[in-house]
Amino acid sequence: MSTELLLVGGERVPAAEEGTFTVIEPGNGSPMADVAEAGPEDARRAVDVAVEAFDEGSWPRTSATERGRVLLRASVLVRERLEELAQLEARNVGKPIRDARDEIGIVADTLEYWGGAANKIFGETVPVQDPGLDVTLREPVGVCALITPWNFPLVIATWKLSPALACGNTIVVKPASLTPLSLLRLADILAEAGLPAGTLSVLPGPGSSVGNALVTDPRVAKVGFTGSTEIGSAIMALAARNITRISLELGGKSANVVFADADMDTCVERSMWAVFGNTGQDCCARSRIFVERPAYDGFVEALAERTDGLRVGQPLSEETDLGPLISSGQRQTAVDYLEIGQKEGARLITGGDVPEVPDGANGFYLRPAILADVDNAWRVAQEEIFGPVACVIPFDTEEEAIRLANETEYGLSGSIWTRDLGRAIRVAKGIRTGVLSVNSSHSVHTEAPFGGYKRSGIGREMGMHAVNLYTEVKNVYFSEA
Ligand code: NDP
Repeated sequence: MSTELLLVGGERVPAAEEGTFTVIEPGNGSPMADVAEAGPEDARRAVDVAVEAFDEGSWPRTSATERGRVLLRASVLVRERLEELAQLEARNVGKPIRDARDEIGIVADTLEYWGGAANKIFGETVPVQDPGLDVTLREPVGVCALITPWNFPLVIATWKLSPALACGNTIVVKPASLTPLSLLRLADILAEAGLPAGTLSVLPGPGSSVGNALVTDPRVAKVGFTGSTEIGSAIMALAARNITRISLELGGKSANVVFADADMDTCVERSMWAVFGNTGQDCCARSRIFVERPAYDGFVEALAERTDGLRVGQPLSEETDLGPLISSGQRQTAVDYLEIGQKEGARLITGGDVPEVPDGANGFYLRPAILADVDNAWRVAQEEIFGPVACVIPFDTEEEAIRLANETEYGLSGSIWTRDLGRAIRVAKGIRTGVLSVNSSHSVHTEAPFGGYKRSGIGREMGMHAVNLYTEVKNVYFSEA
């Protein structure tokens, strides 16, 4: 197995301490690649390079139009290599190849969006009282450290690095240790598309050392993080030392509110994918399913029937609906929560066992599980499981549905299912969450803002809202006198 090296200053280099780590394929538990393991010294080196690229390099001084062209070229290259990237992502994360293809399509869409947006980011003229002209300028923040998770590795990295690059920043990205491979390929593609060396460095390595070194480096102007609420909170505290700008996209325990008048066939199908998609390892997972009492028994029965039909299998099989979890630890967490939920009084309707998957005996598979008759106060309904576990909870009134949906420390996503427009509006206004969909389970759009209320995070990625994360606003007043 060859070793994937770090990317620093446009070159692939070994780690300063020359260490490596092995990336595992969750579908069969086998080693997939050895990767150079960055540490604090590599973080310092990468920030040196990024500072120089920001202070003296061409990228921040290139016209916004040219920056956009580089991103557009990268988008074309990603589409040309979609299958290769999708296979890499499917194997490394364990996600079904059909989903991986969709995700690489989103990566290309995101690069294309920011390629087009780059020269449409501008300030304002302000009608101040004093004689003269007052204008605002949108300037890049500086060196951005981006720390990304393993559940949608390339999509989430691209959501951050595309607007950061479009705005003229220089970047160091630390991918999750479990899934560093696809980002290294994307960095190669960006270089081929014309991104100047040193504008983007990629440092696979432990969050506790390399991630920590990036967050605490006073030369880093901005940290963009997606991951657990616990680490997000720690990063926020560390970033406070240097008043480093931060945006955080963290955990969730989103509500899927089903009224009895909903189109039930569509609702059951989409509600199932909304909790089990990506084997439940999704910050937007609608893992609390609230169902209006008259529809409750029928919903639980239909959801179980449809869930039993899901094919759990090898990521590269075209037949697979759900792949393995990312690691044995992540699977054990889900199994533990199923036990906790049943002890709390929930009824296990289906799933939770380990299926037989051809050549997958050492993979991290688990059949998707439904817990019914859950109380919203129980741990299974309050804590993020990040695995294929759905909690179904009955309710009686619209007011109760809103109250229960809001009884959580999180506020990332959610869905409302009803044919009553007035009710849809009232409930959408009542639920305190950053993203909601009505009669849909679609939370994330390349063109629209995405982020959380409460402990689900700070800031909005995606769409033109992301410009706020990667620019400073400078006000310049020209006196007429
Ligand atoms: P983490 O929050 O630990 O990891 C996310 C990223 O942060 C990774 O790149 C990680 O690096 C890095 N990191 C870890 N510790 C530090 C640190 N001290 N300073 C800087 N960076 C750090 O998530 P896990 O992968 O451990 O998953 C645990 C749980 O987090 C999941 O079960 C789930 O509940 C939640 N989660 C939520 C996600 C979301 O999309 N909101 C995504 C992923 C997880 P490294 O990989 O090297 O540890």
